[in-house]
Amino acid sequence: MQDFRYIDNIVTLQLDGKSCIGCGNCVTVCPHRIFGLTERKAEITDRDACMECGACAKNCPVGAISVNPGVGCAAEIMAQWVNKLAGRKIIDGCC
Ligand code: SF4
Ligand code: SF4
Repeated sequence: MQDFRYIDNIVTLQLDGKSCIGCGNCVTVCPHRIFGLTERKAEITDRDACMECGACAKNCPVGAISVNPGVGCAAEIMAQWVNKLAGRKIIDGCC
């Protein structure tokens, strides 16, 4: 999944650094390694690689992360990826 990239500058991912308590959950759960942790504060290191799966926001204990999961092209890209892995015929309906 590391080779997937979203369309530049349209990802809905937001991080409230002031609320972050440095638990590291977002670093652990993100399949694209979007987050880094520096001095017990999360930071977004590669926003445009986010696929808006929502795992980080669901696992943040203080609600410091917001993202609209499965919006825009992300849902289509994910569906294509799953179909490709399953060997199904891919119908490219994205954009
Ligand atoms: S929404 Fe998914 S891909 Fe994007 S930063 Fe969160 S866990 Fe990573
Ligand atoms: S999951 Fe939330 S509190 Fe934990 S490091 Fe990430 S942003 Fe900070």
